Amino acid sequence: VSLWANVPAGPPDPILGVSEAFKADPSPKKINLGVGAYRDENGKPYVLPSVKKAETILLANKVNKEYAPITGEPEFTKLAARLAYGEASTPLNENRIAVTQSISGTGALRVGGAFIARHYPRENRRIIYLPKPSWGNHTPLFRDSGLEVRGYRYFDKDTVGLDFKGLKEDLKDAPEGSIVLLHACAHNPTGIDPTPEQWKEISEIVKEKELFPFFDMAYQGFASGSPDKDAFAVRHFVSEGHQIALAQSFAKNMGLYGERVGAFSLVTGSPEERAKVDSQVKIVVRPMYSNPPIHGARIVSTILSTPDLHRQWEQEVKGMADRIISMREKLYDALTKDFATPGEWGHIKSQIGMFSFTGLTQPQTKALAEKASIYMTADGRISMAGLNSSNVQYFAESVHKAVT
Ligand code: PLP
Repeated sequence: VSLWANVPAGPPDPILGVSEAFKADPSPKKINLGVGAYRDENGKPYVLPSVKKAETILLANKVNKEYAPITGEPEFTKLAARLAYGEASTPLNENRIAVTQSISGTGALRVGGAFIARHYPRENRRIIYLPKPSWGNHTPLFRDSGLEVRGYRYFDKDTVGLDFKGLKEDLKDAPEGSIVLLHACAHNPTGIDPTPEQWKEISEIVKEKELFPFFDMAYQGFASGSPDKDAFAVRHFVSEGHQIALAQSFAKNMGLYGERVGAFSLVTGSPEERAKVDSQVKIVVRPMYSNPPIHGARIVSTILSTPDLHRQWEQEVKGMADRIISMREKLYDALTKDFATPGEWGHIKSQIGMFSFTGLTQPQTKALAEKASIYMTADGRISMAGLNSSNVQYFAESVHKAVT
């Protein structure tokens, strides 16, 4: 008998399974709204022109391929932290933020989870609260880090909005010292974010209950088109004195998905403490993967440190955000005006970022795949980036048919 004969087959990944069904479909009208990657107006993957320019510069500079330090290139980590925390950030300027380069956002969360499981000192230190629902990978990722995963109310099915009352109740009921995962902007999968006023209230509760805020910021710039505006929650918490943890990703806002570039950071109390935390982050990272890949980090550093390129990138990230926002408007207009589709569709326009929680039911999403070759996750989440001027009308018409 083979050694692995008794390994049971695992379930397929729910999101990547959607892409496979899409690929196998021969229809010329097919649309893939499953995967969370930006598509341009022609439905094609988009390499940002600022990224291409940065690569040209890197090639001309004949950079070598030596290993990066365990926590990444210091130039990169400095610039990544500045983008997130802002030029005026007190802990940043006091040199007390520990930053490590990571394998994109997922790796940042995973290194953060492992560091917290080992060093977070408060009582109930192993309990992490995730919004219900949250990005599908959060649960296995934090479990594998050694934490106990629980949930706080977030989505209100009836209003297709934020269940703010439920959220507050659940955070108030959480055992003191628990960790709470917060999506900094463009909540995945719902597309619903707290308002600035609501963030302020959440900050107060987190303070009162001595919870530990762990921000996942996978979409900075992608939500509103402004990286500063999208960093509001993170910067507000820091200015309120919270010692936050932060996972950053450059997958979406620079279109660097496969380059796997991100950062994990922790606000510490002093430069001495930062140095000690840094040394322990290295001890977490070294046995996992030794040190991070270099190319993506160099692209990010080149863009963020070259004023012309930085400005160009800001335009490009705004271009992506604006295209998505315009698709929300087109889809809303098509459903409500062209087809007079029954139901309330205001959330299509008010939701933020890459995704929209349409409210379509599982049988409806199934019918859309079978009858119209339109693919999305079974929870009715669509990636807005998969829509463009050529297919939005067909999509609206198909939704109309599916719900009537
Ligand atoms: N966090 C959230 C909420 C996400 O939606 C994603 C990607 O879809 C990630 C983290 C991590 O992505 P990556 O590892 O590609 O940076």
